[in-house]
This record gives sequence, structure tokens and C-alpha cells, in this order.
Amino acid sequence: MTIPDITIAVDGFSSTGKSTFAKMVAKEFGFLYLDSGAMYRGVTLFAMENGMAEGGKIDEPALKEALPGLDLHFQREDDKTLLYSGSRCIESLIRTMEVSSLVSPVSAIAFVRAWVDDRLHAFSKGGRVIMDGRDIGTTVFPNAEVKIFMTAAPEVRAQRRYDELVAKGQPSSLEEVLKNLQERDYIDSHRETSPLRQAEDAFVLDNTHMTLHEELVWMLGLLQGKFGLLETPGITW
Ligand code: C5P
Repeated sequence: MTIPDITIAVDGFSSTGKSTFAKMVAKEFGFLYLDSGAMYRGVTLFAMENGMAEGGKIDEPALKEALPGLDLHFQREDDKTLLYSGSRCIESLIRTMEVSSLVSPVSAIAFVRAWVDDRLHAFSKGGRVIMDGRDIGTTVFPNAEVKIFMTAAPEVRAQRRYDELVAKGQPSSLEEVLKNLQERDYIDSHRETSPLRQAEDAFVLDNTHMTLHEELVWMLGLLQGKFGLLETPGITW
């Protein structure tokens, strides 16, 4: 039995390791990985760079007018999927604390969500896709064959994100990172359009005390339960 062309939706709170998990599953089982949060971060960077987020306030009419001219797309490089704005790679620019602190208000805007959703659908036409975000299993792909909802203790999440920022040479304080996560979780779960919530048919993955290898074994068990014993020639463990 091999895995058919299915869509896997991975949702959950900020910094629960969704993208690490989704990238790993994509690599091991041969899926295209798409990071929907990167698109919201790309729109946020665009607003910041074009004077539409002065003093942290989003100029919605200006953003609405300019958005159709924004060309955000993913490019595969080696085994990475990087976000581009036109011909400029913006992958590292969208991961700063400045962008993190503005992205949730930007992604709460209904016309921004509609614009991103259109692109996500276009990028994932055909084939096996794994996409992570906040509303993939509930709104973007409500018919996804496999839905996963990830969660972990806030302190563990903050420590992981903090270590990531430090490793990238972008130090901030652990308190600031924890505060940012909690604010984003609150805004993401309470917004009017497409709030973060667990789909009824999602499997919960709480990785507070799990290693990446244990997450992969969990995923293999889930896929085998659904599709039978798998031939997995690409498995590297
Ligand atoms: O996944 P990541 O933390 O990079 O996402 C950044 C932000 O983008 C989230 O905090 C959330 O506000 C927004 N987002 C969203 N819907 C998605 C993915 C991300 O609203 N599907």
C-alpha cells in the first residue's frame, strides 16, 4: 500500500513545531510542504515596508488597494521551500520579532485571508500536499483526508522559539517571546474570520514531551491506520 494523493492539514497554536513536523513528514513520505503562515508574514512585511503599518496601525484601505500587485510565491531550493516576493527571497526577513508582533492583526483582516486562501489553493493543485497554519483543516481544506491539531505547553513552545531566534542571531528575551506567543494565540483564536480552532475530525498531537522521531512514528501509525501497511522506501530512519 502506498499513500494516495491526499491533503494533510496541520493546525495549532504558535510555535508548537507545526512547520518542523510538516517538513519532516513531507520529506519522509514524499509530500509538497506549504507554510501558510509564511504568506501572512509576507503580507505583513509588505505592509511594513510600504508605510502601511506606521506605529503598528494597519492602513487597511491602502493595503487592500496594493495587495493585488503583490507577487508572493514559494521556490524550492535544495530541500528547502523559500518565500519570494517577486525576485527577492524574503524568507529570513519574515521571521523577525517585528513581523511576528504585527502578523496576527494583519491576518485577522478578512480581505487578507481571502487573498492568501486563493493563492494556497492555486499552489496546491494536484498531488500530495501537507500544509500548516491555523485554519487549514477548518477553512482552507475542510475536506483534507488527514487533519492534525498540534499543541504543547506554552513555556516549552516559548523556549523552543527563543532558542531558534538566538541560533539565528536575533536574540530577544524569553519573556518577550512568551508574551508574543500568548498574544498571537489569543488574537488567532478570537478573530471573527476563520479563528483558530480544532476541527472535529482532527487528531491531536501534544508534543510537549515528544522527540521529532516520536512524532514521526506517531504519524506513521496514523497513516497506517488509515491506509493500511505502507511501503515507505523513502523512510530514512
Ligand atoms: O505559522 P506562523 O507562526 O508563522 O504564522 C504566523 C501568523 O500568521 C500566526 O500567528 C497567525 O496570526 C497567522 N496565520 C493565520 N492563518 C494561518 C497561518 C498563519 O492566521 N493559516
